[in-house]
Amino acid sequence: MTLFSRKPVTKDYTTRVVRMHGTCNACKKTFDGSTSLENYYICPDCGKYMTVSAKARITMVVDEGTFEPWFKKPKDENPLHIEGYEEKLEAARKKSGASEAVTIGKAKIMGETTVIGVCDPQFMIGSMGHEMGERITAAFERAIEERLPVILYCCSGGARMQEAIISLMQMEKTAAAVKRHSDAGLFYCSVLTDPTMGGVTASFATLGDIILAEPGARVGFAGPRVIEQTIGQKLPAGFQTSEFLLEHGMIDGILERPFAREHLAYLIRVHKTDRSVAKKFKVKSLEPIPDVYEEQISAWEKVKMCRNGYRASAMDYIDRVFTHFYELHGDRCFRDDRALIGGLALFEGMPVTVLADLRGSGVQDRMARNFGMPMPDGYRKAVRLMKQAEKFGRPVVTFINTSGAFCGVDAEERGQGEAIARSIMEMSGLKVPVLCILIGEGGSGGALATAVGNEVWMLENSTYAILSPEGYSSILWKTEQRAEEAASIMKLTAQELYRLQVIDRIIPEYGGADSETADKISEVMQACMTAFFKKFCVMDGVTLADNRYTRFRKF
Ligand SMILES: [Zn+2]
Repeated sequence: MTLFSRKPVTKDYTTRVVRMHGTCNACKKTFDGSTSLENYYICPDCGKYMTVSAKARITMVVDEGTFEPWFKKPKDENPLHIEGYEEKLEAARKKSGASEAVTIGKAKIMGETTVIGVCDPQFMIGSMGHEMGERITAAFERAIEERLPVILYCCSGGARMQEAIISLMQMEKTAAAVKRHSDAGLFYCSVLTDPTMGGVTASFATLGDIILAEPGARVGFAGPRVIEQTIGQKLPAGFQTSEFLLEHGMIDGILERPFAREHLAYLIRVHKTDRSVAKKFKVKSLEPIPDVYEEQISAWEKVKMCRNGYRASAMDYIDRVFTHFYELHGDRCFRDDRALIGGLALFEGMPVTVLADLRGSGVQDRMARNFGMPMPDGYRKAVRLMKQAEKFGRPVVTFINTSGAFCGVDAEERGQGEAIARSIMEMSGLKVPVLCILIGEGGSGGALATAVGNEVWMLENSTYAILSPEGYSSILWKTEQRAEEAASIMKLTAQELYRLQVIDRIIPEYGGADSETADKISEVMQACMTAFFKKFCVMDGVTLADNRYTRFRKF
């Protein structure tokens, strides 16, 4: 079961044969290393992800023979001279076969060079002392010098008690090193494995540009026993698992071991390519397209068309216009909003960040997506992903189709107005090209929150309005009955908005946007996008932000 919305990215991954040692802590079956298993330390009996040593992890993830270790046996082993600590370290070394709780070096993953570090659960449960902090910090520093991404497989029981306050200082030290690496525009991906607890979650483990976690891994700041003892509260089932974190917006996705190599390689590849490749794009000439600047259908008819369940969704266009859409989840605050999704994709090989309102299909999916009405969490996720796009110089493309931002008590409690305002503000200043396409209903502030583009396009029959015609009629005339009349005077059609210069382009629908016409619409969209990227990708960041400022300043 994969929680990414798309299949694995490439076909060329090879199955890794790893000899399994150890006991499955779910079903207690023991493996003595005599069997070679092709299943990545996933228990063949019960499917549980078993603990993996740093050494075995590196074998599973990196290209054979490419790992170049960076750190040798540490010198200053017992900074606070705690009795018995050196013996404990010696025993941990024997048990794990590693010199410390993290192994770091340079390697290739499917040909992509990266710094990779792996915390070792078999070395004092990956507890963080000064040697671990030192290695991680030094690795980020060296990654800055060599302009390399960093991948860290995290696992930790928390701070190492034998090093007391010195252990605590590692949190500050490693977080500061991550900051420098990030400010240098470099990519960091953390992968959380079972267990990642305590100080490590409050420092480098949760600071990745992208955070992934293995299925079922326990991840949290305070351990469940501590919480239960402190506040006497019984914890819900599945509390502090990867799946719990995903739902609560803390991670981007679940990383299954068999696909780890190709997912990581894809992410490295995406983050080393910038928008300069757009210079080589060839603009396709299209057959004469139907006149879309004349009104063919009444405004009210268009309103009804956009609400129709058969209308093509953002996913229909994303699948056709881009390749390798890779969904990223969560606002890092509260929840993953499924009404407003985001992720990475490639346009003719150029990485872009895509955001899209999704209404869902089928009763369950529609409910899970809150009928396409985003919560504040959705807009906060959008801002997070747009700022991430800006860091890596990637263009942003948004697909808008919402009746509006959700109105309700919980949305207000979490600051719906502030979330929309911040999205508009941050979007206006982005130092990358931004293209916004209204593909259905464009409902008020909830739509505008992701519609601050260098260009704004609309599908021929889509709408964009301050509120629904029913709402407009009831405010203006104290009845909802005059919605049709309201629609006709509100200037909500693409044609009227083009004349008002609210939008820059109309994309033809060839009779109506549905599964039948999605191919043709996408073809036009793609050709127009090529021209858009050719024009805007060569501009520097300040010019792009100025261009957007001027565009909206005129109203
Ligand atoms: Zn098992």
